[in-house]
Amino acid sequence: MKIPTEPIGSIPRPAELVAAITAPSNGTDIKGLYDKAISDTVSEFEKTGSPVITDGEQTKSSFVTYPLEGLSNLAAEGMRIDFEDGHFRQLPLLTSGPFKYSNYAVKYLKAAQKLTHRPVKQAVISASALSLIYPQNGIAGYTQAEFIEDLLDECEKDIRQCLDQGAYKVQMDFTEGRLSLKLDPSGGVLRHFIDLNNRVFNRFSKEDQQKLGVHVCPGDDHDSTHSADIDYADLIPSLFDLNVGSFYLQLASEKDRIKVLKTIKQYLKPNQTAFIGVIDVLNPIVETPETVRDRVLEAAGYIPIKQLGTTDDCGFSPFCDDISTTRETAFEKIKARIEGTKLAEEKLSS
Ligand SMILES: [Zn+2]
Repeated sequence: MKIPTEPIGSIPRPAELVAAITAPSNGTDIKGLYDKAISDTVSEFEKTGSPVITDGEQTKSSFVTYPLEGLSNLAAEGMRIDFEDGHFRQLPLLTSGPFKYSNYAVKYLKAAQKLTHRPVKQAVISASALSLIYPQNGIAGYTQAEFIEDLLDECEKDIRQCLDQGAYKVQMDFTEGRLSLKLDPSGGVLRHFIDLNNRVFNRFSKEDQQKLGVHVCPGDDHDSTHSADIDYADLIPSLFDLNVGSFYLQLASEKDRIKVLKTIKQYLKPNQTAFIGVIDVLNPIVETPETVRDRVLEAAGYIPIKQLGTTDDCGFSPFCDDISTTRETAFEKIKARIEGTKLAEEKLSS
């Protein structure tokens, strides 16, 4: 039997590219650096033996802001996301309507597909994350309801273009799922987020939904998290209400993995696959294939094998300037995931 294994998306950018992005200087060939970063990433990805690869998000400003790059109807001071180590990231605020993406994820997919024959998956940002850019005081002449309609159309378009382009999977990043329980422990905001994202997923056929997935994690930026203190078990029951086939779940860094696995077992639906995180992206130590194998075998004690897959806990660099993990380490960890998943397959087949 085959246990599917997929990455989440991002790989740390080369140092030279990060320097060119964070401190631009005249005469730097940024396009050349981007092109080289994508082709190097795709080729390194192939060397890991990964059956499914990504472009490593080498050219996204971040996993959440790529549809907003260059928009003129944004102000700086939006919602702030605080991380455990004291640093924060801040979303922009919309200042006028109508809301349209400046940029669609299919662009990244096409660039990667040109460089490889392997299946390429593509990450997109959730409608729920982008819903946070609408200001609490409203916008004159552009109601929140109008904004949401535009947002759902754009999010659908972002996904559909990737499916039409032959993406192996389209994964919606939903890191704010767990975070929402920190902001609203009653779960009301989480419910609202789930409903909003389902309004997007419900526009797709049952077959297409099998090619769609959702990724959740407690955040990962500069080796720090925003919601690891929130009980995972409070997120999981609602999570599996999302109408998609694949769930990419951070698990390796979880303190009580068995408790999480038991909750997954209880709520996972028959047409859903749980890709469990077997690589801790916050920890610089590279897992051995045997460690990965044991994590898969542990999960196989709870999740039916035909509904089990493996993944990394998160992307290795969801924001473009995060180089807390080196590229080398990221690829070594991915290699360990591939090899360890194979060892588990052999063990489960014998
Ligand atoms: Zn993540």
